[in-house]
Amino acid sequence: MEARDQLLEDLRARDRDPRVVAAVAAVPRELFIAPALQRFAYTDRPLPIGGGQTISQPSLVARMCELLELCPGDIALDVGAGSGYHAALLSRLCRHVYAIELDDELATHAARSLELAGIDNVTVVSGDGAAGLPEHAPFEAINVAATASGAVPATLEGQLAVGGRLIAPVDRDGHERLLFVRRTPDGYERTPLDAVRFVPLR
Ligand code: SAH
Repeated sequence: MEARDQLLEDLRARDRDPRVVAAVAAVPRELFIAPALQRFAYTDRPLPIGGGQTISQPSLVARMCELLELCPGDIALDVGAGSGYHAALLSRLCRHVYAIELDDELATHAARSLELAGIDNVTVVSGDGAAGLPEHAPFEAINVAATASGAVPATLEGQLAVGGRLIAPVDRDGHERLLFVRRTPDGYERTPLDAVRFVPLR
């Protein structure tokens, strides 16, 4: 079986949301990684993307997309755009994605890869994602792909719409976990989930 079919079958076997599996099937991951690594495009593992950064394994990206409970009309913020792959998947599940990346070179490259993939509902912004994007807030969903120390930056949580969801890796006392946050009319509900490993939020 081809690696791509195998990956899709594994995601279905893990009971991933069919809309997320369809997004993984639709986005050519090879466009988001260096030519020398393209033969690993559909292997379920993280890959280097330059600048000492990595693109997460597809099963984890799919899991994070599913947790955001995206609706077709939603506007999402992606912090740490990296290669642009995660933003590409999110873009298949909502109306528009603003993707922020600190490294200018990665941001330029991500924008080019998204264009090559024929994706026109992602805006790549070069800058510090820890500050969010107040001019486009509030967001129904915020995805963070780099680990925050201690807690999710309050500025980011504050840019969630009421009912909005955020997923971020957070390091607490050396233990790194995905944290799910939901903004309610009264505040924030925070739920720690899977143990993970990401690069640090700078
Ligand atoms: N989601 C990416 C992988 C992200 S790796 C993908 O699909 O390829 C984490 C990224 O977060 C790196 O590219 C790193 O440069 C970026 N990053 C780290 N701190 C950041 C910050 N404060 N603002 C924006 N981007 C940041």
